Amino acid sequence: MAQDNKKQVEQITDMEADFAQWYTDVCRKAELIDYTSMKGMFILRPYGYALWENIQAILDKEFKETGHENVYLPMLIPESLLQKEKDHVEGFAPECAWVTQGGSEKLEEKLCIRPTSETLFCDHYSHIIHSHRDLPKLYNQWTSVLRWEKTSRPFLRHREFLWQEGHTMHATAEEAIEETERMFNIYANFYENVLAIPVVKGKKTDKEKFSGAEATYTVECMMHDRKALQGGTSHYFGDGFARAFDITFTGKDNQLHHPFQTSWGVSTRMIAGIIMVHGDNRGLVLPPRIAPTQVMVIPVAQHKEGVLEANRAVMDRLKSAGFRVKMDDSDNSPGWKFAEYEMKGVPLRLELGPKDMEQGQCVLVRRDSGEKVFVSLDKIEQTVGEMLDEIHNGLYARAKKNLEEHTFPAFSLEEAKATQAEKGGFIKTMWCGELECELKMKEEAGMSSRCIPLEQEHLADVCAICGKPAKHMIYWGVAY
Ligand code: ZN
Repeated sequence: MAQDNKKQVEQITDMEADFAQWYTDVCRKAELIDYTSMKGMFILRPYGYALWENIQAILDKEFKETGHENVYLPMLIPESLLQKEKDHVEGFAPECAWVTQGGSEKLEEKLCIRPTSETLFCDHYSHIIHSHRDLPKLYNQWTSVLRWEKTSRPFLRHREFLWQEGHTMHATAEEAIEETERMFNIYANFYENVLAIPVVKGKKTDKEKFSGAEATYTVECMMHDRKALQGGTSHYFGDGFARAFDITFTGKDNQLHHPFQTSWGVSTRMIAGIIMVHGDNRGLVLPPRIAPTQVMVIPVAQHKEGVLEANRAVMDRLKSAGFRVKMDDSDNSPGWKFAEYEMKGVPLRLELGPKDMEQGQCVLVRRDSGEKVFVSLDKIEQTVGEMLDEIHNGLYARAKKNLEEHTFPAFSLEEAKATQAEKGGFIKTMWCGELECELKMKEEAGMSSRCIPLEQEHLADVCAICGKPAKHMIYWGVAY
C-alpha cells in the first residue's frame, strides 16, 4: 500500500527543482491532457475538459445576464476578407494556416483557418446593422481557433485552442468603451472570486495591444514561479473596423454613422493559470468553485457491513445540497486513493469507516493545507460548504501574498534588470511612454511590459530607462 502511494507521488518532479517539468508532469499525471500525433495539438481529457466546462458555464451565465447572445460563425475566412483591415492582417499573418485545396481541386482563393473572428463578425454585421434600432449588437462565440505556433505547451500554447470571443457593436464610442470595461471587470472578478487568482488590472501599451485595437485592457496574473500570465483581454476598436468593412447605420439624426466596436476573450490558458498558481509538489490544487469534483468520498474498511451504504448516504446528501461529489469504492488501496485524489487536486476528501459510523462522524481532509478534522454528520452539508469557502479564501490569500511579495519598484534599467535576475516577479517603474524604452527593457532585462495599471502610483518624476519626464507607472515581467 505504502509502496503504491509513494510511486504515485514520486512521478511528479519537484517544482522548485524544475518548474517546467513539474507542470508537464501535472498535466499528464492528473489526466488533464494527452499528446497527439499532430504536433502542437492536444487532447483535453475528461478531467481537463470538465474544468473548461465549469469555466464556460459560469462565464456564459454572466455574459447572458449582461445581455449577450451566443452565435456560431464559419471556421474559414477568405483571404480577401482577412485583408480588409491592415493592422489586423499584419498582426496575424505569421500565425495563419491556410486551406488551398478542396477535394481534388485547387481553390481560386485561399482560405484562412480562423485565428480569431473579427473579420467574419464585421462582414456579418455589415449585413445586419442598418439602423440605430439594430444597436447594440452583443454577440459571443464559444469555439476553437488555430494559430500556427512554432513551439507548444499544454494549455499555454496550442496550435488549436478553445476560447470564447465576444464581439459587440455600439452606436457611440462611450457605450463601446463602457462595454470594454464591463467585460474586463467580469474577467477580473471571475479570476478572483472563482479561480482564487488575484490580478493586476491595467491597459496594454501600444506595442502589446491587440492588432487593430485602439485600447486593450488586460488582467495579469503571477504564477508560482513568479512569471506573468496574461489572463484575459478586452479590446476597444473605435470605428476602425467598421470603416474598413463599410458598416453603417442611420442614426436618430437620420445621418449615416459608423458604429463602435469591442471584442474580448479568454481561453483554456486559464487552466494553465489554475495549475501554476495553486499547484504544489503533490500535484494539482483546484479552487473549489471550479473543481470538477469538490468532495471525494473514500469508504474506510468498505468490506465491512453497512460501510458502503453509509458512505453512499453521505454522498447523496451532499449531492442534494448541490455539491459536486464522487465516491471511490474501487478495490484500489486507501493509500492509492489518497495519493490519486491529492494529485488531482480534489479540494476535500471525506473518509467514513465503521468507527466513524458508531460516533456519527466522518473525517474531512483539506487538499490545500492537509488539515484533517473530525466532523459531525448532522450538519455535514453546512460544514462542507464552509470548508470549501475557507479553501477558496486560503488559496486566494496565498496567491495574493506571492504577488505582493514579488512586486518590486525599480528606478533604473540596471536596478530593474538586477531585481528580475535575483528575485523574479513583477518590476514596477515609471515610464515615458516611448517604444524605444520598452524595447530596451526587453532587450537588456528580458522583460515585456505587462500593463499600465489602472491604479497608478507615483514612484518618481522620470522614466526609469531614459530619464525623461514620466507619463505612467508600468509593470514589467517575464511572461508565458
Ligand atoms: Zn523612457
